[in-house]
Amino acid sequence: MRIAVIGGGPAGGSAALALARGGAAVDLYLPARPGEKPCGGAVPEHVLPRLAGFDLSPLPAVISPAAVLENAGGGRIGVDLQGIRIFRRRDFDRALAEAAVAAGAVLRPARAERLEWGSGGLEVSAAGETRIYDWIVGADGARGLTRRSLGLASRGDSLGLGGSLSGLAWDRLVLAFPGLADSYLWIFPRPGGASVGIAYTAGRLTDAAARAALGSFLDRHLPGGWRDLPGPRYRYPIPVFGEWTLPSVRRALVRRVLLTGDAAALADPLTREGIRYGLLSGLWAAEGLLAGDPERYPDVLAAELAAEMERAGNARDLFFEGSIGQWMVPAARLHSGVRRVLGDLLACRQPYTGLRRRLLRSLFNPSRIRTPSAP
Ligand SMILES: Cc1cc2nc3c(=O)[nH]c(=O)nc-3n(C[C@H](O)[C@H](O)[C@H](O)COP(=O)(O)OP(=O)(O)OC[C@H]3O[C@@H](n4cnc5c(N)ncnc54)[C@H](O)[C@@H]3O)c2cc1C
Repeated sequence: MRIAVIGGGPAGGSAALALARGGAAVDLYLPARPGEKPCGGAVPEHVLPRLAGFDLSPLPAVISPAAVLENAGGGRIGVDLQGIRIFRRRDFDRALAEAAVAAGAVLRPARAERLEWGSGGLEVSAAGETRIYDWIVGADGARGLTRRSLGLASRGDSLGLGGSLSGLAWDRLVLAFPGLADSYLWIFPRPGGASVGIAYTAGRLTDAAARAALGSFLDRHLPGGWRDLPGPRYRYPIPVFGEWTLPSVRRALVRRVLLTGDAAALADPLTREGIRYGLLSGLWAAEGLLAGDPERYPDVLAAELAAEMERAGNARDLFFEGSIGQWMVPAARLHSGVRRVLGDLLACRQPYTGLRRRLLRSLFNPSRIRTPSAP
């Protein structure tokens, strides 16, 4: 079986690595100079050991930084954020692709330019050459060639507006909930600088309002000035999981394409975290192909993600605009239990299933009420 993986981000890298380790004949297409993916680069540690054959230890990373949450009223609370690693995406993606190649994947260092469904198989054209495959793993992002070739519109996009700033020393993770629809702001420390930005949903917040909120947030936290710091600025889609996800994945499967990561719209609709789901979906696609049963892939996505993502979507308004958003910081100041739940949620150890129950239990457990400590 000949397999092409289109795209060398978390989804494509993990698929190519697992396929090559499983003995499949796999070509990994990625642009010769992929550049830095607009991204905070925060990954929950617990997912990383699932990438057999990928040694992260040499990669520069910020590990479990001190974290501060802020709400719209200016309230602040420190939370313990154990179990998060923050990478520069170019380091992470390059190392993952190198691990795939070391395991036997063939690197095709060129952007795939055309996909066609010929009588002999799936034709991928890149750098003036056309190769034929039995299956394609589409891992080239929300608006990539794979979705376009399948005639699938981009759906469910949140947006990330921000930048990767270098030339500043920053060691704290700050998350702020400004009370503007379902947006949140961040400063993540990362090797050599910081990633800053605002995540929001197009149609619920204008770009101008998002830009203004980000500007005043950064002015407050980086009073020494940030506008002139070097590093790329961006506005980039984050395709979140929704009712559009599984129908697109099933439609692609009919044409012998497994959509993964952002190409499948798998990011968490509340946190907009997508690296974990890119990595996992790449692994699940590879497992289906190696087992000779790729048809099961959409069912695996449904079983693993659908219920949790639906809860994340439902919790979104409650979290940002409703009672949790309003009371989270004051409640967390008083309750060590609530602080722990928030830390676990943000470090991706607390699933949405059971979140409300655990928060309420923490809130009404008098033995956990503590004198607040300053962050
Ligand atoms: C501003 C912002 C901040 C974010 N912060 C976080 C965060 O902190 N943590 C988190 O978990 N998620 C975060 N996300 C989401 C996360 O970046 C994505 O969900 C994740 O990168 C998806 O991985 P992927 O492999 O599916 O796609 P991508 O990472 O987009 O990788 C796609 C790859 O395909 C390549 N490609 C594209 N077209 C072609 C082609 N024609 N041929 C060959 N290769 C091609 C690209 O060069 C790229 O390498 C953030 C997103 C944004 C926009």
